[in-house]
Amino acid sequence: MSLIASNIQRIRETIARLQPDHAVEIMAVTKNRTRYEAEEAINLGVDLIGENRVQESIAKWTPRPLIPQHLIGHLQTNKVKYAIDHFDAVDSLDSEKIAEQLNRRLAEQTGGTFNVMLQINAGMEESKTGFPPDCDVVRNFLLQASKWPHLEFIGIMALFPRAIDTSEQEKQRIRKLMKETGELWRMCQMEGFPWAPLTILSMGMSEDYEWAIDAGSTLIRLGTNIFGPR
Ligand SMILES: *Cc1c(COP(=O)(O)O)cnc(C)c1O
Repeated sequence: MSLIASNIQRIRETIARLQPDHAVEIMAVTKNRTRYEAEEAINLGVDLIGENRVQESIAKWTPRPLIPQHLIGHLQTNKVKYAIDHFDAVDSLDSEKIAEQLNRRLAEQTGGTFNVMLQINAGMEESKTGFPPDCDVVRNFLLQASKWPHLEFIGIMALFPRAIDTSEQEKQRIRKLMKETGELWRMCQMEGFPWAPLTILSMGMSEDYEWAIDAGSTLIRLGTNIFGPR
């Protein structure tokens, strides 16, 4: 069996062991990987492709992959047009400005709707963009998102700090942030805004996806665990 195949098998076994009471989809994060490596993961049944950069993704994925492809890196305003053409969703919507721009472009370009996810900076880290993990802030943002009729908010993508060591204390710190983010997601979902079904909770990367699944994640984003160290 190839490395990628045995890695994916191990991830599936881990998910099964955790016995989540909901489905967990696997996104293969293919930044800095070749199309050849990524195609192997697709053939092995991963659910989605995640790319961080618009340009890298266009170069790699023309023609596009057979499974949905999402942008998970920060979107610059000058790339909005290309993102709409190239991705099935932008999971990294991190400001009102970018929502405005996406909506305006969509009105001109396709006239249809486009899937987006709200990015949450769960640890309020300066190195990361996104909304704070604050129910009022997120709910208010979603409430007024009806003014962007071309955007459909299909979920939340949350970013977490990396554990600085392997101590129990660090583990509990991250787990607590994940649990709170899960609660925030459920609360916003219950608002029932027609333009924000929020069916997806994307949290968990190679290092912490087991904790994320325990906290309710429906979509884990894995690079290193599938393809090996970068
Ligand atoms: C790179 C990246 C991942 C995957 O990281 P790994 O630790 O390699 O699994 C997931 N999410 C985002 C937003 C990323 O940029």
